[in-house]
Amino acid sequence: MNKISKVLIANRGEIALRIIRACKELEITSVAIFSEADVEGLWVRKADECYPILGDVIQAYLNYETIISMAKKANCDAIHPGYGFLSENADFAKACEENGIIFIGPKPEHIALFGDKMASKVAMKEVGVPILEGTNEPIEDKKEAKKIASQIGYPIIIKAAFGGGGRGMRIVRQEKEFDSMFDTATNEALKFFGNGQVFIEKYVENPRHIEVQIIADKYGNVVHLGERDCSIQRRHQKVIEISPSPRLNQEVRKELYRIATKAMFKLGYESVGTVEFLVDENDNIFFIEMNTRVQVEHPVTEITSGIDIIQRMIEIADGDKMKYMQEEINFRGYAIEFRINAENPQKNFMPSVGTIEKYLTPNGPGVRLDSAAYTGYKVPANYDSMIGKLIVWALDWEGTVKKARRALDEFVLEGFPTNIELHREIVRDEDFKEGNLTTSYLDTKMDKFK
Ligand code: ADP
Repeated sequence: MNKISKVLIANRGEIALRIIRACKELEITSVAIFSEADVEGLWVRKADECYPILGDVIQAYLNYETIISMAKKANCDAIHPGYGFLSENADFAKACEENGIIFIGPKPEHIALFGDKMASKVAMKEVGVPILEGTNEPIEDKKEAKKIASQIGYPIIIKAAFGGGGRGMRIVRQEKEFDSMFDTATNEALKFFGNGQVFIEKYVENPRHIEVQIIADKYGNVVHLGERDCSIQRRHQKVIEISPSPRLNQEVRKELYRIATKAMFKLGYESVGTVEFLVDENDNIFFIEMNTRVQVEHPVTEITSGIDIIQRMIEIADGDKMKYMQEEINFRGYAIEFRINAENPQKNFMPSVGTIEKYLTPNGPGVRLDSAAYTGYKVPANYDSMIGKLIVWALDWEGTVKKARRALDEFVLEGFPTNIELHREIVRDEDFKEGNLTTSYLDTKMDKFK
């Protein structure tokens, strides 16, 4: 007997809409919340019920006491946190439980463990996952840190232990840069994550970022839904994601799946999650972090595997057994996701704000658009600049690249600068077409794209 019949969505924008759609298909009542800046949000209109959160617009989606009491008042039996905001807040997950509300996500202890990058490296190493050489506990003493850095050997990377979104990371190539980089990383960690703890790790030159999507139920069944290549990044933040990786040795691919599923089984993980790896030029594999939430880039996996990740996430939280076992999951074709951001690539990617004056979206075979935008929508300046995701699919890589070109060319979004033109240039680039992608791809190409 399932308990979940009404879900509060503790998020906004495209992911709120995506969760509402999953709820509708599962015949679950959806409840949207919105800040004073989001009165015009499309998800507010599409949900079965909606409630405002008054006051500070930035804090609105973070204020978990208010959100939990709203869920209780509205008789919701579960909360879906989406990504960002409260999605990786172990205290929130615990507070939901304590208030008799199902948190649609992993157990609080797993959220807490993987929220700490150092602790997660230690835990993953214990279950046989290869990690990068580095410090596995916080280092405050700069002299000591410098000594360790030279033992590891430059280049190294200094990372915020509780970091995310590409922030709080500094690459150090020579010893003489160490002191100032250490200070910057520590200050940034404190500013953005409220905790100045940093650690040191060997820096991998020109790696690919490959991540494995996992689904695990409460009964020890763990499956993978293939990998995503998220090497196209700007400032360590993903811009384009591809599934499967267009150039990955089949042996390496199998090994990534094996390592990721085994680790999640051994650690007793539940819900959906993503195990992120770097793969170096010699195909060595290194775990970097685990994300305990649904990711922005989940649609490429949904398309190639045919599995609705959000729906399965809700069912698993409700105590259902895994619906599709590994042998029932078949992968087909290639999918590419383009993050559509309200930002100006010509002006150092400065976030742009404004009203969408003209909006003609791509369509047709093999095209999916996850967005909460519409003509006349005023993009609030208070949140993330991502206004949608264009996803394309075809049976072979070449066809998928051609489809991407066609779909991006069809996209009309007027009113403020976006990165659509940059995407159009990327899909015409030879290295992109060849699938020659590493995490330095975009940085090295930016001059050419301007
Ligand atoms: P965040 O949680 O901020 O997303 P991650 O640890 O997932 O940070 O790393 C984000 C990106 O930063 C990676 O995809 C990669 O491009 C780069 N990166 C992180 N660690 C290393 C490393 N040790 N060597 C090289 N690049 C790295």
